[in-house]
Amino acid sequence: MTLSEAIEQLVLANRIISHEGILDAFGHVSARHPHDPGKFLLSRSLAPSLVRREDILVFDLESRPVEDYDCSLYAERVIHGEIYKARPDVNGVCHHHAPSVLTFAISHRKLEPVSQMGAVIGHHVPLWDSQDEFGDTNLLLVKPEEGRSLAKALDQNWLVLMRRHGATCVGRSIQEMTFRTIYSAANADLLLRAMMVGRVETLTPGEIDRAGEIKPLAVERAWDYWTDRL
Ligand code: MN
Repeated sequence: MTLSEAIEQLVLANRIISHEGILDAFGHVSARHPHDPGKFLLSRSLAPSLVRREDILVFDLESRPVEDYDCSLYAERVIHGEIYKARPDVNGVCHHHAPSVLTFAISHRKLEPVSQMGAVIGHHVPLWDSQDEFGDTNLLLVKPEEGRSLAKALDQNWLVLMRRHGATCVGRSIQEMTFRTIYSAANADLLLRAMMVGRVETLTPGEIDRAGEIKPLAVERAWDYWTDRL
């Protein structure tokens, strides 16, 4: 993928995830630099639905801008840098505060896959609590050590809940990250509905393995659908 194509996809991912109701004024989406795994692409500080090509900036894995950009930056960019550092397989990251997912970050109900598409969240969704290592904070992740702690909690999973704050979802490509972000929020919403109705049945470990294998054709089809809806 060329840098221009990566920027194009990242702009679309920002707009798609916003349009699907997961990002609002806050949250952010990034991609690893296609030619330099030691860098990543992220917008200047903006509501993700407003992001255009010219807003995309380049950061190193210490989450420092590679140039002296004359604009404000997202405070929580260490989330992205530290995850790219810890997970060489990850090429896209979305941090959001979607109410459906946040519900499971403020309660003690485990977020588990309950449908075929929901299998994208995998076998385990860890819950990171800033209180454990950092005590009372304003709940924003701004220090590198906070980002490192979150990346450690994410471990080899696809989604990490952040107590009283939000969630961060990752993927092996920008499109896969978008797919996992949207269907993990849909799974959370479905689980909430099922809990209101009765006893909830979750996927078996074998079903999670089989249904969680993401087919490139499915990702492409969903991407085309979401792009058309913009
Ligand atoms: Mn946040």
